[in-house]
Amino acid sequence: MKYYSTRDTAVDLSAAQAVQQGLSRDGGLLTPAEFPTLSQEELEALLPLSYPRRAAAVMGLYLTDYSAEELLDFAETAYGPTRFDTAAVAPVRTLDEATHCLELWHGPTSAFKDLALQMLPRLLSAALKKTGERRTACILAATSGDTGKAAMEGFADVEQTKILVFYPKDGVSAVQEAQMLTQRGENVGVCSVVGNFDDAQSGVKRIFSDEALREELDGRGYFLSSANSINWGRILPQVVYYISAYCDLVRDGKLKMGTKVNFCVPTGNFGDILAGYYAKKMGLPVGKLICASNKNDVLTEFLTTGTYDRNRNFYNTISPSMDILISSNLERLLFDLSGQNGEQVKDYMDQLAMSGSYRVSDGILEQIHELFWAGSCGEAETAAAIGRYYRERNYLLDTHTAVAADVLEQYRAKTGDNAPAVFVSTASPFKFCDSVLAAIGEMAEGTGTELIDRLQYVTGRPAPWRLAALREKENRFDLCRKKEEMPQTVRDFLR
Ligand SMILES: *Cc1c(COP(=O)(O)O)cnc(C)c1O
Repeated sequence: MKYYSTRDTAVDLSAAQAVQQGLSRDGGLLTPAEFPTLSQEELEALLPLSYPRRAAAVMGLYLTDYSAEELLDFAETAYGPTRFDTAAVAPVRTLDEATHCLELWHGPTSAFKDLALQMLPRLLSAALKKTGERRTACILAATSGDTGKAAMEGFADVEQTKILVFYPKDGVSAVQEAQMLTQRGENVGVCSVVGNFDDAQSGVKRIFSDEALREELDGRGYFLSSANSINWGRILPQVVYYISAYCDLVRDGKLKMGTKVNFCVPTGNFGDILAGYYAKKMGLPVGKLICASNKNDVLTEFLTTGTYDRNRNFYNTISPSMDILISSNLERLLFDLSGQNGEQVKDYMDQLAMSGSYRVSDGILEQIHELFWAGSCGEAETAAAIGRYYRERNYLLDTHTAVAADVLEQYRAKTGDNAPAVFVSTASPFKFCDSVLAAIGEMAEGTGTELIDRLQYVTGRPAPWRLAALREKENRFDLCRKKEEMPQTVRDFLR
């Protein structure tokens, strides 16, 4: 299987090269040249399989330069019992006959990013061997919370890799900070940066474009790489759980094979819902893909009107992992809907960089309307959805999942389409204790890990054990630097 750049189909790479490079040199995203299809028989063959076996089967269709044994070995480690707290890995919870919830937070950091970030390091480490790369990959990440921890957990002690995460000193939740500072692994490092998320992120970007530093590191046997969701090795593992959820519903007699299901996805960088689109493209019986945004509703506007416009206010919300103005992975959708027209995609992306906005062709917009529906949910509505689900359905939602639950209700009310639907649950409520406690009408007394106990106590539900165990863990890291000191921090880390 070949991989193209979304801005230039003359770029063509193998799967291992695409995973290793992360981003195409022309700024485009590396994307499969074609999409294999799954027939009904092939889907049926997946029904009795475990999650790791389903993952190996689906990923093998795309990663043609990895062997089946290799992929199964990776999947069994990545999704095994030392990492995921349920053998189902990504279990489907049924709330009523037509409404299901796909729980993607049973991994080591209690957010959906584990599904991809447990797999990516293994794919990357193998890619280095396949391409004959001798240097060690140094992963740099700036994080507002979820990505950094999930990336550290995934890369911890993975061969030929090191990882250094920067986070804003006062920009992550107490639970998220505790998760990062107690991270195990000989090859991991974490450093807080004085300032906000933008300071940390622009600092990392500057390091990536610092040629002198790159050269210096190269001389010492390192190259820089990134773990964010533009890497194909992060999108592909996500295609698996859409297919797996469908298989579970059929296997458990809740759905007839072939019946279409709508998926509603809480969206930020468009990586999660894009994987759902690819699953549909492969032949999975998916009806509408419902894109749920919080108060930052740039995607709702785009998918409705065809105009993407980032010139708008940015809001810090109670669902911070969806607070975003530029959804990078949208570029892959445009590449596909334009018939792999790299020039056209490049033109849209240039307009976005120059003026902050672009408008897609009528042909693309028509296809978008056929495939997607989009809605957004404000802060008060998000909190109300958590309260409503807790009282009426005895189900506790986190602040991101609540956005999806609410937008699914909006979709049904506005379109009358009550087909079976799955909304995607992207984080454990115990990661966002203060907002969840407030939403169910409880006082959020205490700080940090005390709030985990409080939420357990008032709801009578157990927190994921790793979050509950945080209070006994010692901090391993204590590094705080100014933005200007970040390059030196990288040098020191790679000594
Ligand atoms: C990252 C994240 C999202 C958004 O996913 P995208 O792939 O960026 O659209 C939603 N919810 C949670 C909890 C996340 O961590």
